[in-house]
Amino acid sequence: MKKGIHPKYNTVTVVCTTCGSTFETGSVLKEMRVDTCSKCHPFYTGQQKFIQAAGRVERFNKRMAQKQEPSTDSNK
Ligand SMILES: [Zn+2]
Repeated sequence: MKKGIHPKYNTVTVVCTTCGSTFETGSVLKEMRVDTCSKCHPFYTGQQKFIQAAGRVERFNKRMAQKQEPSTDSNK
């Protein structure tokens, strides 16, 4: 391997932001955050959940509500 061009490979703790579980893996990053993991993904749990999708609909509705008020036009 060529010296000086390879990033350091660390053991990092991955944190799932949906269910809060953690596990370790190897990466060049110092820490990792994931939206879903093997503990909460519907494929592994067998349950249908749309946590992320629900968040998106909520955000969309909020944005639409803001659009109808001319006073909150600054954060377009
Ligand atoms: Zn998870």
